[in-house]
Amino acid sequence: MTTEQLSTRILHADRRGSVEHGAIHKPSHNAAAFGYATARELADVFQGSQSGFVYGRQGNPTTAALEAKLNLMEDAVGTVTFATGMAAISALSVALLRQGDHIVASRYLFGNTASWLQTLTQLGVTVSLVDATDAAAVTEALQPQTRFVFAETIANPGTQVADLAGIGRLCAERGILFVLDNTMTTPALLRGRDVGAGLVVHSLSKSISGHGNALGGSVSDTGLYDWTGYPNILSSYQGGPARGWGLLQIKKKGLRDTGGTLSADQAHRIAIGAETLDLRVERASGNALALARWLEARPGVRRVQYPGLESHPQHERAAALFGGRHYGSLLSFELQAGVDPFALLDALRIVIKSSHLGDNRTLALPAAHTIFFEMGPENRQSMDIPDGLVRVSVGIEAEADLIADFAQAFARTAAAQPR
Ligand SMILES: *Cc1c(COP(=O)(O)O)cnc(C)c1O
Repeated sequence: MTTEQLSTRILHADRRGSVEHGAIHKPSHNAAAFGYATARELADVFQGSQSGFVYGRQGNPTTAALEAKLNLMEDAVGTVTFATGMAAISALSVALLRQGDHIVASRYLFGNTASWLQTLTQLGVTVSLVDATDAAAVTEALQPQTRFVFAETIANPGTQVADLAGIGRLCAERGILFVLDNTMTTPALLRGRDVGAGLVVHSLSKSISGHGNALGGSVSDTGLYDWTGYPNILSSYQGGPARGWGLLQIKKKGLRDTGGTLSADQAHRIAIGAETLDLRVERASGNALALARWLEARPGVRRVQYPGLESHPQHERAAALFGGRHYGSLLSFELQAGVDPFALLDALRIVIKSSHLGDNRTLALPAAHTIFFEMGPENRQSMDIPDGLVRVSVGIEAEADLIADFAQAFARTAAAQPR
């Protein structure tokens, strides 16, 4: 294991894997298929006794270079990339779960992940949704058929911080797989293995790529989970060392058979974006904290949710988990009754009305009316998403410009409010 820090690892990963012609980046390999000089070599690659590529649906040299980079970032033993974060999450669950299995998941989940879990229940998997800010709630929900616990780091839009260390300890004690979606924090703030996660999921479409020009997802195996204890590994995937079993089954039954493959061009863009991850997370986190503090002091704002604020219920946990300096780019705030979120958002001049997260640009949306609209008012209430809630994904603009934009928008909206 290298002692180098994140930026250094990412920047030099490609060349240390020996890039063609001494190029400083791994290029985009767009070939759909790969040929060999002899039938024996082709057979050896198919059988896994020789490494190599056969058909692009199962990966290509560019996705492999990104996977190597993600291994360095998460200190993982292996990574498989996918076309999107949802492709990663759905493929890992299809590969690892069977009818009659049970999973425990956080109640505060990315909306499409919550929707996917509903689909799993239609396929015969039972799901317990719990308040993952308390590891005791996870313990209570465990069953003999529980195959994994699934949690996110910072929940969207409420910014609840799960009891990650507690869940990790609990899963280690019980021999249960802990699957962590680390999208909102990225390895710049937290590594999955440091909280005991066996598998770490990323949407590479968000902060890791950062520039809003690529979609991707990944699953990394930290090596912490002992797959000999996992009941659903097919015997054909139990040939090599046990630490490779889970990811091999995800690669075959997940990536190969469901086909949600990351393209070489997208992998290349993500890999370039990742080079500045550390810088961007620092800058965006600084902006987010400044904006959160400014909003907290602002009349017309009922509450601000941001883990970097002392008023946040899990502020101390967040400080311990994320290193105490940066708290990510996601914040949300609730407007007082009578202040129209649509009018405020329309008055913003720099901030873009958009559903994306982790972009270099600051993006905002009225959460209840957009990403949480489909689930209906009762579910929104149980998830604490009121109509006046604005979600902001803070970018890397100059802090003063960002705050000035909110200041002018609040001033113009207040002037327009009926008294
Ligand atoms: C965006 C997101 C996903 C899904 O990723 P896509 O690349 O959009 O499919 C999953 N989990 C979290 C926490 C996300 O923010």
